[in-house]
Formats: sequence, C-alpha cells, structure tokens
Amino acid sequence: MSTRTPLMAGNWKMNLNHLEAIAHVQKLAFALTDKDYDAVEVAVLPPYIDLRSVQTLVDGDKLKIKYGAQDLSAHDSGAYTGEISGSMLAKLKCTFVAIGHSERRQYHGEDEELVNAKIKAAYKNGLTPILCVGEGLDVRKAGQQVPHTLAQLDGALRDIPAEQAETIVVAYEPVWAIGTGEVATPEDAQEVCGAIRGRLAELYSQELAEKVRIQYGGSVKSGNVAAIMAQPDVDGALIGGAALDAEEFVKIVRFRD
Ligand code: PEP
Repeated sequence: MSTRTPLMAGNWKMNLNHLEAIAHVQKLAFALTDKDYDAVEVAVLPPYIDLRSVQTLVDGDKLKIKYGAQDLSAHDSGAYTGEISGSMLAKLKCTFVAIGHSERRQYHGEDEELVNAKIKAAYKNGLTPILCVGEGLDVRKAGQQVPHTLAQLDGALRDIPAEQAETIVVAYEPVWAIGTGEVATPEDAQEVCGAIRGRLAELYSQELAEKVRIQYGGSVKSGNVAAIMAQPDVDGALIGGAALDAEEFVKIVRFRD
C-alpha cells in the first residue's frame, strides 16, 4: 500500500475573473474539512493575477489549501516582458508550479530544454514542479505513448539531482484527453504512470520512485476519478474544466466517498 498522499490540483487556466477567483477559494475553504485534508493534499493553480489574493485568504484564514502558478520564467529577472520569475512566486508563498503543460508546449513552443530550465528555476526558488508530460493523438494511435512520455521525462529531469527529483510531481496528461471529455481508461492511465515510475527508478532509485507522486490529467470528473485513483501508480489528478466548479472539485477531492 502506497504511503503517498494523493494530490488533487485544480488548473484554472485563463478562467475566472478576480472576484470569481476569490469566491471560488472561499467556497472550497468552506466546504473542505480536516478529514479531507488528512486524506488528500488540495491545490489550486489560479492565473498569476489572483495569487496575491489567494495568499491573503490562505494566510488570513489559515487554510490548508495549497496554491501555485501555471507556469514560470526560466530566468531569474531582467528584460523578459510579460514573464514571472520563480522568486516572485516564492514571495507569494506558492508551493507548486506547473511546468510543461501541453498548452504551453503547443501554443508557446516549449521544448524539453526550456522545460528543463524551468524545472531548475522552480527548484532554485523552493517551488515544487508539477511536470506535465503526455502524448498527442497521433502518438497514441501509433502505440508510442510510453516511449514518447518517457523521453519527455528524461529531458525534463536532465541534471536534476535526486534530492530535488524526489519532491517532483509528474502529471501524465494525454493531450487527446485534455478538455475534450475523452478520458483515458484507468488501464491507459496506469500503463503510462507505471512506466513513469519505472523510469524514475532507473534514473534515480526504486526508493525515490516510490516517493514521487504521479497524477493523471485529462477530463477528470467526479464520475470517473475513483476508477482512475484505484490504479496503483496514480497518486492524484490535475484537473482543468471540472476544477472551475467548486462543488465538483470538492467531489473529486472526496473520490473515496
Ligand atoms: C489540464 O488542463 O491540465 C486538464 C487536465 O484539463 P481538463 O481536466 O479540462 O481535461
């Protein structure tokens, strides 16, 4: 039986206005109880502009909700218009930062080198990366989902020492399942999540691989989360659309009920 605490993280993407974002965290805070937090780590990844308000809510009410950003710059500071550095996120007491989300890879041309640099920037600033990996439909149709995803993992972890890698969260998100309503079967999720853990054991050690949390992401909802979470190598979910509805997100957090 795994000792890994499941991590349910809501990726809000570019959604909710500022007041809606605050109201959303308040709803989660009201609904979630110590029993929930004992069983599951809960995190939200709002747009950058909401992070200060989320921090105020979390600090002011001593909430156990964690939060983080959807991306960060690979650079420390300087002439990088529009970018946000890891130290800025650390000052806002972010715990997590998503790196290499498929929408960043697809629309912003992020490659393995940049993803690797962003992981280094996250660790340099005490942030925990949620590294997103996963194949597109063409790769899945060709049956190459495991080698494709492991190649992304290898590239992302280049020169990352074990003492950092042991805290990483890896989110396996098949691109064809993101925001499409097309969820991977529990067996599909387990195949790749199990392969990711196996590769972590090869790259580092079995002990380290057993510590790392591997999430599944892609059209997770309250109706499908329990079957996915029943897989031995799935330790949580990265949730997009369904995380925008507080009631639905709470149901996902309570996947065991
Ligand atoms: C995501 O964006 O990480 C995601 C999994 O989205 P959705 O749950 O909407 O498929």
